[in-house]
Amino acid sequence: MNDADTLFERIIAREIPADIVYETDTTLAFRDIKPQAKTHVLVVPKQRYRNVAELAAADPRLLADVITSAHKVAELEGLTENGYRVVFNTDVHAGQTVFHVHAHVLGGEQLGFFGR
Ligand code: IMP
Repeated sequence: MNDADTLFERIIAREIPADIVYETDTTLAFRDIKPQAKTHVLVVPKQRYRNVAELAAADPRLLADVITSAHKVAELEGLTENGYRVVFNTDVHAGQTVFHVHAHVLGGEQLGFFGR
């Protein structure tokens, strides 16, 4: 990928601070700076892909690592008893703002329906 680094490369490189909750060889999880639920953590692959479709096509094993890390975060954050949501915003209509694929892990309270 040739675009300029996104914010998330700088978080992965520890160039800017983040509240890191979990890390593996291939993924990093940190709290969203503007939480949309009581618990809101982002899980990113350390290698950059623009969105989940590109990640799935290029490296399905790495996508599985992201999902596995999301579930691990849910366990660490105490979300597994009552459930949680994993969201990948993909491009413009979904409101994706950072073009380094990331899973939003949301929970800790009853979540509303979403759409428009
Ligand atoms: P997107 O809209 O799906 O691309 O999600 C990007 C997310 O990154 C948003 O929920 C932002 O609140 C979050 N975000 C932006 N800057 C930071 C930061 O510096 N640390 C943690 N989360 C951030």
